[in-house]
Amino acid sequence: MPEDRKMPNDALRLFFLAIEEVMGKDGMRAVLRGAKLDKYMDNYPPKNLELGVTMAEYGAATQAVEDFYGLRGARAMLLRVGRAIFNYGMKEQSAVLGLAGHALRLMPVPMTAKMKLLLEQMAAAGNKTVNQPVYLEEDAEAFYLVYPACMCEYRPKHETPTCHITVGILSEAMKWLTDKNFNIQEIECLNLGGKSCRFRVPKTPQ
Ligand SMILES: [Zn+2]
Repeated sequence: MPEDRKMPNDALRLFFLAIEEVMGKDGMRAVLRGAKLDKYMDNYPPKNLELGVTMAEYGAATQAVEDFYGLRGARAMLLRVGRAIFNYGMKEQSAVLGLAGHALRLMPVPMTAKMKLLLEQMAAAGNKTVNQPVYLEEDAEAFYLVYPACMCEYRPKHETPTCHITVGILSEAMKWLTDKNFNIQEIECLNLGGKSCRFRVPKTPQ
């Protein structure tokens, strides 16, 4: 396991709000107990960008959601949590997402150009604000968001890619941007021994 990495308070706070929306207040309490994060019970991290929380805490809460629903049921719930993170982040204009306002959405440029701009902004926020290194790659068919460090490194080993929350965030981001659904997949995952967590965003909607 790598040395623990600091994250901004607002990243964990948005995550907790999203879990609460999907699982309710009692579900959220169960998650905090399961993750041994009782210190956050009715005491979420503050809404600021100070590096006051850690990737291991984020990973522990993710694992607790999975434990609550079981490996199979958890995927759908974590995707929903990811979508809720995006929606909260947009509503509050959180710097964690890196998307300021609706200008991008309304920009009169081709869809793939808009997608690239949005993914670049999200990657910039990862590097600048979230303390999570990330870069963007592209080929003829797809964009790839590549994370050489991820919360999933602090979770028990899995046999299939684990980062459903990020898939949910990206799915909702693309939906918000284009009003279309994209089949986003994690094609390589650090948790399984990959070099990075790699998310494929196809240039063509479903
Ligand atoms: Zn991963």
